[in-house]
Amino acid sequence: MITELLNILSWKSKSPTVVFLVDDFGAVKANKEIVENNYFGHARIDLKNRFNIFDTLSSVKDFTKLFEVLEKNTSKLGSTPVFTLVTSMANPDFERIIQSGEYQFLEFWDSIKNYGGENLVKCWKEGIEKGYISPELHGREHLNFKRFMKIINESPDLKEIFFQHNCLPELSFTNPSHDYLSAFDFDEPSDIEEQKKVVKSSIEIFEKSFHRKPELFVAPALKYNKALNKTLVENEVRAVDKARKSIEPLGNGKYGKSFNYTGKKIYKNQLSVLSRNVMFEPSMTTKSNWVNFAYFKIEECFRSNVPAIISSHRVNYVGGVSEVNRENGLWALDELLTKINETYSEVSYLSASELIQKMHAK
Ligand SMILES: [Zn+2]
Repeated sequence: MITELLNILSWKSKSPTVVFLVDDFGAVKANKEIVENNYFGHARIDLKNRFNIFDTLSSVKDFTKLFEVLEKNTSKLGSTPVFTLVTSMANPDFERIIQSGEYQFLEFWDSIKNYGGENLVKCWKEGIEKGYISPELHGREHLNFKRFMKIINESPDLKEIFFQHNCLPELSFTNPSHDYLSAFDFDEPSDIEEQKKVVKSSIEIFEKSFHRKPELFVAPALKYNKALNKTLVENEVRAVDKARKSIEPLGNGKYGKSFNYTGKKIYKNQLSVLSRNVMFEPSMTTKSNWVNFAYFKIEECFRSNVPAIISSHRVNYVGGVSEVNRENGLWALDELLTKINETYSEVSYLSASELIQKMHAK
């Protein structure tokens, strides 16, 4: 019922349109060492969390194999699928934090170089140039550094794990204020002023890294307070990603709720909303057939003439911990794209930025 109503309100596309929003690129999260050292004995590091078991930064091999699948699934009319990489623009600088005792960060290209050297930098640039990937903004770091510093000051055991292995595993929590990966969640309303500076700095790093402004802002966990909209607009961001039923942090443990749809205008009509309507997470074991599940939702979008905005995460397409994980994810992606192309030869695969331009064209 709600889906139908949101589809009626949504921006319409004349032909079948597919956009992939794939989160968490650039962000250091867990890594192989979490699994190898069997840190799952730690009460707060969850063994069932797929991000802890499979997620790592993407390697040259991960990208090369992904690009092959995308290229191979070019539609009959010549549209090649593109992954919009929802990208974090920095990571904590573990070494400098230990030295100084204060929070410090490492910018995007420096993190990428640290992980995969010049070859990985080259691979990103080639992927962008050839149109397989298109970065958009996932904030500066994929963490709330105030909460992160609190954890390392209060939990020496977690501090040791983070700093010994340069990793940021997902931690289980019962109180939302312990969720340290939600960068723009906050406890005290006064934190918003600092967050405005973080948003501004993330846009500056994005521009410096990719030589253009981001068009889309995606807050980690899709949580941010609307006070940040002004900063986004002032820096020429044109759209924000909001969950259909979104949660807005208000501080002091309070959260507001709103319904959203693609094309909704917010902040004095100066920002458009993109809202994901298809989930595709093959590394999540809750569904036995992700291909059919996502395809069914895509057809539902096409019937209502709304763009299918597919929500996915890097964790499905990386093999740094388990090659089998990457092969499963890419196999499912290949199947899904083949199925779409077989039935909808007129399909257009757009990056988020291309969709936003279409939505704004008169
Ligand atoms: Zn994320």
